Order: sequence, then C-alpha cells, then structure tokens
Amino acid sequence: MRVSVDSGSCHGHQMCAIAAPEVFGSDELGNATVLIDGDIPEELQAKARRAEANCPERAIIITE
Ligand code: SF4
Repeated sequence: MRVSVDSGSCHGHQMCAIAAPEVFGSDELGNATVLIDGDIPEELQAKARRAEANCPERAIIITE
C-alpha cells in the first residue's frame, strides 16, 4: 500500500495526522504530508485507511 495526498484538495484539518500520526505530518502551511516514503508497513495500514475514510476533502489517495 502507498499513500499520497492531493495537495490541491487538502485543507489542513489534520484529522489524518490524528488518525495516523505515524503516516501523516504537515508542511509549513499546515497541509498534510506523508511521512513514509514507499510502502506503508502492514501494522499501519488500518490507520492509513481510517485517515482516508475520515478526510473531509477526500484528499488522501491510497494505491495498493
Ligand atoms: S484530513 Fe484530509 S484535508 Fe485534512 S489535512 Fe488530512 S489530508 Fe488534508
């Protein structure tokens, strides 16, 4: 699983970082960044999916 954030859609709520702080951080503008380069470890995948489901802007993209 890989995760990315559509920066054009992200509004910086940081709900993703609350749901999965190991996966999501924020840039200097407060928009979400992905902290993990490459595949998301299996033990963090459920959290990443929860963050995707809870993103109000649908800005989180998960690819398998
Ligand atoms: S919850 Fe969605 S819109 Fe909000 S910071 Fe995270 S990716 Fe961006």
